[in-house]
Amino acid sequence: MAISGPQALSAALWPHQTSPFDRGLALRGSHMADVVIIGAGYSGLSAALHLAEQGMDVAIIEADQPGGGASGRNAAGWFPVYFDKGPDDITRELGPVQGDALNRMVVESARLVPALVQKYKMDADLRQSGIAILSESPKAAPAQRHLAQRWNDFGGNVDFLGSEAVRSIVGSDRAAHALLFRDAGTLNPFAYATGLANAVVDAGVRLFTGAPATHMEQSSDIWRVLTSHGSIAAQHVLIATEGYEANKTLWPGLEKHHYRLPFAIVASDPVPEFVERIMPAGIPMTDTNKANPFWLMADRDGRLVASLLPPLRDAASAADVARPLEKKLGRLFGALPALNWSRFWIGTVAVSAEKIPRLLSLAPGVHAIGGYSGQGIGAATAAGQEYAKLIVHGDRTACRLPFFDPRPVPLRRAFPFIVRNFAAPLGRATDRSYRAAPKIFVEN
Ligand SMILES: Cc1cc2nc3c(=O)[nH]c(=O)nc-3n(C[C@H](O)[C@H](O)[C@H](O)COP(=O)(O)OP(=O)(O)OC[C@H]3O[C@@H](n4cnc5c(N)ncnc54)[C@H](O)[C@@H]3O)c2cc1C
Repeated sequence: MAISGPQALSAALWPHQTSPFDRGLALRGSHMADVVIIGAGYSGLSAALHLAEQGMDVAIIEADQPGGGASGRNAAGWFPVYFDKGPDDITRELGPVQGDALNRMVVESARLVPALVQKYKMDADLRQSGIAILSESPKAAPAQRHLAQRWNDFGGNVDFLGSEAVRSIVGSDRAAHALLFRDAGTLNPFAYATGLANAVVDAGVRLFTGAPATHMEQSSDIWRVLTSHGSIAAQHVLIATEGYEANKTLWPGLEKHHYRLPFAIVASDPVPEFVERIMPAGIPMTDTNKANPFWLMADRDGRLVASLLPPLRDAASAADVARPLEKKLGRLFGALPALNWSRFWIGTVAVSAEKIPRLLSLAPGVHAIGGYSGQGIGAATAAGQEYAKLIVHGDRTACRLPFFDPRPVPLRRAFPFIVRNFAAPLGRATDRSYRAAPKIFVEN
């Protein structure tokens, strides 16, 4: 059944600002490949592209269309960070070899995205403007300065900005300081997904669309992935469906390995003068307050685009969704012009137990990729590239992603309810202070 309302891909702004992908194949009958990939988001597409570049025969099975999941409807900021962790956490958790390798992968992902956009001549409205993370807490300054240093130790391009410098890029006097990730930026996320899909097809990959994979069968070391009208057999299978699994019979229990958290995005009518006032250097922003997630950018036409947790009840209009956001904007920027929020959509963020990019080893030859926890534009692109190295070299040490055994997350069903009904309202109520050094992006 087609999805309607704010969960539909067509509710998002991005597909309306680019051309649709029309090169998908219909899967009929039995096929073979070296690798079959389930899901055509950034993870699956990047894996396919990097495998095909190395001469592998690859087929993708996509339930809907490229970018039909989180990749086509996200908040558009590509950003070399982890959700809720810093590089020191990763080194501590994974050890210096694996941890440092993953930190470098994440840092480099910020340069990989523009490199692919340029190499494959994608029309994805890419702007490498940098992204600022604001903090209102002077007490957090030493930790933020340290964090910038640590990212730079892994090859990052991060500046710590004091209050004067922040004021030159953000039209607000509320921020005590900020981190500026200079390699980061924004793009049209759906156009990036379709751009990758076009590159993949040009590289010789068979991309089957409108074909939900329903089951997998094993015969010796070959896996057969089945849809209602056809199948593809391969030695290697990558499940790249993350929070948008279209079928629970494909790999029963896989959905238990992450939380599914709805996130809302609102877009205003164009307000170019206001955008110029609050983002004079064209730099989008987020902040360090995990309790009330906030992201603000402008699209190519001067629309404000912002993401936030959806409100308590299903909202009737974009204006309802944007109400708490407007409070925050008023507090940051003073008087607001009349903002007409003309569009809102809701996407599902998959938050994993590990909250880092990773491969789940499901069976010999079968992996599930993901773990980005809302930071997936760069990370999923890089993760797909790492999976390709694993398959091409046949060696885990060639791959910078950590491997985990499947591990169900606790309170999975209750989590979105708890976040939406308790954590989010509390976060909004306490947003005024955000004095306690928040853990997000901060080493402890
Ligand atoms: C609202 C929202 C805002 C976000 N904002 C940002 C942001 O600003 N910056 C950032 O870096 N990240 C952001 N993210 C996260 C980022 O979008 C994701 O991490 C990334 O897109 C994941 O890519 P993926 O390829 O792993 O999964 P997806 O893009 O979800 O792709 C999975 C694909 O698998 C397909 N599929 C599912 N089941 C089947 C099946 N049985 N058979 C065949 N195909 C199947 C789906 O149709 C889908 O196309 C956001 C996510 C959301 C939801």
